[in-house]
Amino acid sequence: ATPTAVMVATGIGAVNGILIKGGDALERAHKVQCVVFDKTGTLTKGKPSVTSVKVLGDRHLEEFLSLVAAAEAGSEHPLARAVVEYAHHFLVFGGPPTPKTPTSKAILDTSWLQKVSNFEAIPGKGIKCQVNGHDILVGNRKLIHEAVVEIPLSAEEHLQHVEQQARTGILVAIDGALAGILAIADPLKREAALVVAGLKKMGVRSIMVTGDNWNTAQAVGKESGIEEFKAEVSPGGKAEVIRSIQANGTVVAMVGDGINDSPALAAADVGMAIGAGTDIAIEAADYVLMRSSLEDVITAIDLSRKAFARIR
Ligand code: ADP
Ligand code: MG
Repeated sequence: ATPTAVMVATGIGAVNGILIKGGDALERAHKVQCVVFDKTGTLTKGKPSVTSVKVLGDRHLEEFLSLVAAAEAGSEHPLARAVVEYAHHFLVFGGPPTPKTPTSKAILDTSWLQKVSNFEAIPGKGIKCQVNGHDILVGNRKLIHEAVVEIPLSAEEHLQHVEQQARTGILVAIDGALAGILAIADPLKREAALVVAGLKKMGVRSIMVTGDNWNTAQAVGKESGIEEFKAEVSPGGKAEVIRSIQANGTVVAMVGDGINDSPALAAADVGMAIGAGTDIAIEAADYVLMRSSLEDVITAIDLSRKAFARIR
């Protein structure tokens, strides 16, 4: 490509809110054969909300939510924030938030929360702590299995039902027994399926990676038209997924928003960070999609193809 073509492509990118960090990054994008998408916050809106709560046994819903909220208040995970928001609304206003409820300041006002001790975050799994003399675990199956807490058959069935609806099931154990399940939904971005279909037309394969469980990943994959996915990827494991795709010479782009995604963004031939994502992801990437729209993944590859097509 001529320096003029590079300049023009960079300029068109900038006008569309696509920041390209240098000519090498621009050049690599025209060879991309495969795009790896992070799930949460990249394919999905990243605005999770609790859609149902199932309490097992005869504990009152209010007491259950109060214990779970106190436990999750110490976590910065987006799922934890959704749980605290929901519980705050339920306990302070007497019912679940409606879609029209403005986001509350539940995280800032902590006066309604019970006190927590021995809090521990377990990356990729959940949290554990003590509240009011009770041992609390909140997280996924792995967390519950490792604590050797039994998941009753009816609970497992409910969990799978939740997951098949593309929701994440959060398990809660209290004093060594499974006490309830929360379902959390994080809807797909509107353009997700169109972009996956568009990439396919361009001859580019789409893959999804997530720390979330297999059933939810499969359901989200189905909704977005992505057939290949890797679920239950440990934090740090996403970069290994990228390297394994590159092993046979495939040129890979990674699109992500989280701290977890930054090693993969750096490992990919082309790293694209969602503008609304964390600073660490933005720093690790070659491209920043300021509008946080997945359509710009196509625009970015297109720009590079147009700038570099002639010399190929
Ligand atoms: P992702 O961002 O793709 O969901 P993570 O590695 O952050 O991946 O988390 C993987 C899974 O671990 C989550 O889907 C959830 O089931 C569980 N998890 C992690 N942290 C928490 C938490 N604070 N509360 C509940 N579940 C959690
Ligand atoms: Mg993410």
